[in-house]
Amino acid sequence: MHKIGDNLNKVSTRIEQAANSVARAAAGVRLLAVSKTRPAKAVRCAYRAGQRCFGENYLQEALQKQALLDDLDLEWHFIGPIQANKTRAIASHFDWVHSVDRARVAERLSAQRPAALAPLNICLQVNADAEASKAGVDYRQLPALAAAVCGLERLRLRGLMAIPARRSDPGQQRAVFEQVAEALRQLQRQLPQAPLDTLSMGMSGDLEAAVAAGATIVRVGTDIFGPRQSRATAGD
Ligand SMILES: *Cc1c(COP(=O)(O)O)cnc(C)c1O
Repeated sequence: MHKIGDNLNKVSTRIEQAANSVARAAAGVRLLAVSKTRPAKAVRCAYRAGQRCFGENYLQEALQKQALLDDLDLEWHFIGPIQANKTRAIASHFDWVHSVDRARVAERLSAQRPAALAPLNICLQVNADAEASKAGVDYRQLPALAAAVCGLERLRLRGLMAIPARRSDPGQQRAVFEQVAEALRQLQRQLPQAPLDTLSMGMSGDLEAAVAAGATIVRVGTDIFGPRQSRATAGD
């Protein structure tokens, strides 16, 4: 556990160097610590090292962890696949959702967002590699989905999220992230009134390429908390 603070420092340094390399301010990149499969005490340890934003993929696991960490002032981001019957709990227990890829889920999140909470921050997940993955909206369908989400009262459409297939070549990684950045610029022209300021992209293996291409949130698990065990159960 004592390594978590060191690892956070190392990841922050990587973000700074990547930002400097393209003359961006590192302050424009937020680090989201992906705590899926990690115990609450690992989150607590990261909190003591100054980390405030955490990402979770699995709803039941996240709710249990949140209950154990109720005494901390944390910002929770849901980044996993969304089943329509889980939207009520997601709308109640998270500040951000990065993985919206269809209108039906967005409509439910908006309708179910508790009135006492601020509007829910939303990123649309784009399918950055059309063949390799099925999650995410295709670029062709993005304008219609973005317009629909923009009209939902209890949501704030903030930007795009992508999980490209693993590539070892940094140039190829960056090219895929540049396409996501271009898609956000198109949305900004399409929806000038929307607060579209977020590109959620880059993980442990490709965060430098993502920052170079304009990422404003990088989602890092392994390089903060160490290697993950594979999930033993699929309870949600
Ligand atoms: C697990 C996960 C991450 C973190 O991946 P690492 O390679 O461990 O840094 C980021 N984003 C999403 C959506 C994830 O599911």
